[in-house]
Amino acid sequence: MSPGLTRIAAAFLAFMLGAWTTTAASQTLSFSTVVLDAGHGGKDGGSVWNGLIEKKLCLDVAKRVEAGLKARGLKTVMTRRTDTFVELSQRARLANRVPSSIFVSIHFNGSRKTIISGGEVYYRSSRGRTLASAISRSIQSRVTGGARGIFHGNYKVLRDTRMPAVLVECGYLSNKREAARCATPAHRQKLADAIVSGILAVRAR
Ligand SMILES: [Zn+2]
Repeated sequence: MSPGLTRIAAAFLAFMLGAWTTTAASQTLSFSTVVLDAGHGGKDGGSVWNGLIEKKLCLDVAKRVEAGLKARGLKTVMTRRTDTFVELSQRARLANRVPSSIFVSIHFNGSRKTIISGGEVYYRSSRGRTLASAISRSIQSRVTGGARGIFHGNYKVLRDTRMPAVLVECGYLSNKREAARCATPAHRQKLADAIVSGILAVRAR
């Protein structure tokens, strides 16, 4: 298909999927453990923009999410808790060993289009989409800069994990204003709080 047609077809599919899952927005997921995956680490720094290095911010937010979830009685597993390199396949393998879990990968974004800002949440499965919607809504309502929405993403950690899984891009480090926000612990705490409340919003009681 031509790029134009592909875009129209994709928009139509997204619309149909949106209509079909309107009721699914209130769907819940059953889980007792959240596998938290801080993106990058060690030799893999991730995006580097405006004096910030993605891997450090990912780990910082993941630890804040961990604390928030534990305070609310949920169990957590971290794929890394130090500045170490962990293969993507190893992250998924580790997650797949955790029963009754969901998987939340935490990243920050970068683009040469430095005007772009805001969070994005990626999913691959329909249960992942439920989780992605809740986290995106939560970021939109609680975090300065908001969220650009949810997107289907073919990331390896989403492909290889068997539980509901999302990848959260917490914001664009390439955007000067967003980078300045992300550099502050207060903003990263807000991001973490938003991710925690998104997770809690979909949890079956
Ligand atoms: Zn990343």
